[in-house]
Amino acid sequence: MLQDLRRRARYCLLPALCLTLSACVTAPPRVGSANAQWQPSPNHGPRKPNYVILHHTSSGTLERALATLRNPRAEVSSHYLIDRDGRIVQLVDENQRAWHAGESYWGGHSDLNSASIGIELVNNGKEPFAPAQIKALLGLLSDIRSRHKIPRANFLGHADVAPGRKTDPSAFFPWQQLAMSGFGLWCNPPYAPPPESFDTILGLATLGYDVRDPLRAISAFKLHFSPNGDKDMDEADRAMLYCLVGKIMTVGRE
Ligand SMILES: [Zn+2]
Repeated sequence: MLQDLRRRARYCLLPALCLTLSACVTAPPRVGSANAQWQPSPNHGPRKPNYVILHHTSSGTLERALATLRNPRAEVSSHYLIDRDGRIVQLVDENQRAWHAGESYWGGHSDLNSASIGIELVNNGKEPFAPAQIKALLGLLSDIRSRHKIPRANFLGHADVAPGRKTDPSAFFPWQQLAMSGFGLWCNPPYAPPPESFDTILGLATLGYDVRDPLRAISAFKLHFSPNGDKDMDEADRAMLYCLVGKIMTVGRE
């Protein structure tokens, strides 16, 4: 009881003016239904991110990216920003919802901002990603994965979760290298040919893509898994997709 009173007293800005402790206690704000009776439980914690979404900044320098990501009028942010030399800046607590993905969808989930950590890489979109930057990214991803137990299939690009609307990270991004470290799925040739009955769009949807506009989903898949500039799914792409669908059914959720 005494402990409780001391804790409540900490909320009291002007104790001498308080007639009773309970009269001046200002509890932290709660978000919930006005129709519900509040019966607090101690058994809870911060919400857990289950995806990592990767971006490139488009702006050429860390300073310019920071100016945008910290500008309240821009209404855009990320949890982390990594410079070309590997310097990592954190802008938002991992338990908070950064505004990096916008309207988004993956595997039945919309609003990826609510469930993900966003990482921006300083890159203008027309250049290879610096080795020091990728090395720093891999270290950061290992750290995030060890703390949040994010499944390997849930390391995605902005273009994956917003097909047609976003095209980052660019075709220069080394997805295969990331997958070799356990971040994201990949299949190496030779691929087993898919059966004739294998439906490309159904395969993309199984992987997670929003296929309401099939051409946009195909473009996003190609950017991530087969960035050869060709817009169509050839047999090698279909075989890659078939292999990825098989993986997501087995190891993808680990
Ligand atoms: Zn982005």
